[in-house]
Amino acid sequence: MRTIQITGGRIIDPSQDIDRIGDLWLSRGRVLPFGEGYDEAEIGIDARGLIVCPGLIDAHVHLREPGNEEDETIASGAGAALAGGVTAVACMPNTVPAIDNQAAAEFVILQAQRAKKAHVYPVGAVSKGRRGEELAELGALVAGGAVAFTDDGAPVASAALMRRALLYAKMFDRAIMQHCQVPELTVGGVMNEGFESMRLGLGGMPAAAEDIMVARDIRLAEITGGRLHIQHISTARSVELVREGKRRGVRVTAEACPHHFTLTDERLRTFDSNYKMNLPLRTWSDVEAVIGGLKDGTIDVIATDHAPHAPEKKMREIEQAPFGIVGLETLIPITIRGLIEPGHLTWPEVIRALTTNPAQLLNIPKGTLRPGADADVTIIDPEARWTVDPARFHSKSRNTPFGGWEVRGRAHTVIVGGEVRYTLGGIVQQSGTTAAR
Ligand SMILES: [Zn+2]
Ligand SMILES: [Zn+2]
Repeated sequence: MRTIQITGGRIIDPSQDIDRIGDLWLSRGRVLPFGEGYDEAEIGIDARGLIVCPGLIDAHVHLREPGNEEDETIASGAGAALAGGVTAVACMPNTVPAIDNQAAAEFVILQAQRAKKAHVYPVGAVSKGRRGEELAELGALVAGGAVAFTDDGAPVASAALMRRALLYAKMFDRAIMQHCQVPELTVGGVMNEGFESMRLGLGGMPAAAEDIMVARDIRLAEITGGRLHIQHISTARSVELVREGKRRGVRVTAEACPHHFTLTDERLRTFDSNYKMNLPLRTWSDVEAVIGGLKDGTIDVIATDHAPHAPEKKMREIEQAPFGIVGLETLIPITIRGLIEPGHLTWPEVIRALTTNPAQLLNIPKGTLRPGADADVTIIDPEARWTVDPARFHSKSRNTPFGGWEVRGRAHTVIVGGEVRYTLGGIVQQSGTTAAR
């Protein structure tokens, strides 16, 4: 772990309200105080014209190991994270078997340590086997390193179970992350229910299926005092419910995915399964509401819901194809396209939703450049022009709706624990050599 000097970049650290041009020094895996003189660095990085910020944190990814290693592994997903500028991810427990016990959570952490790429924090299941019947052993999961709980992939359908989960998780100050959707209302659904689904003759998933569960769970968080986190929020009404819940003092947070603030259900006219995700793409008024929620802080976090599926699964007919898209390696440019370029959010606001806020959600000591903090740093080239080419992804899967997009902005250098682990040339192996893929 050598001394690194990052020179002349725009340093943005929302945790300290810093946005200024300057040098950032890292030594022995830690951030050094700003504005002091240091000896010559062993590694110098010229960051003029670039953004230097705390390592980005993605609070919602699926890594598929154990059980579906042909789609993604902990190592390949953590590599995709680096290539996307992300130094820490929270991985969902819908693996096979599910991450519903201490050993399963410890396995994730061990595999991530072996991979030496991005940090990986396991999210434990709410219910045993994610069956929605019996509460998992939340205390043992916390002991194994779980930073939050969810049955994502499916909602916790039972209100009684959700209430107990919020109560128990509160004892450990952990959030329950909920995939909000009333299952009975979405049977056979492949896309948003509305004009487009009727026109295309595809099964619909009504906005109300999301809204109803968001309303229910905000009320349950209110009566328990527990911490509720709404995953991949997608409807205008849900955003309004969160806004109103926060106004009342309920401990509720929410996240939005880049696809939900850039794409609508009209895309399904192509019958391309890369537009099939759950929660589904909605209408323009929903997209505008999600952007409005990000603008006024109702939505705290930007997360990708990175959901890799091997081509032989995803390329089936739209009704049979699984839900979900990869997101890690397009996080930065699609966020720029959706939020920065139109002037909806400033860079410090975007960085806050990708660092400070997810760190708070996950209760992890990350997302800051305070002196002494872990030297996890993302350097972004906000102007780099490139074309999204799924064949070049570090992820094992290619299921993206953004392939071929001409975009702007990407990770330039990614530092984890004081080690340069990614540069534009590729992932930096431990030996110090650079591999293209
Ligand atoms: Zn989900
Ligand atoms: Zn998910």
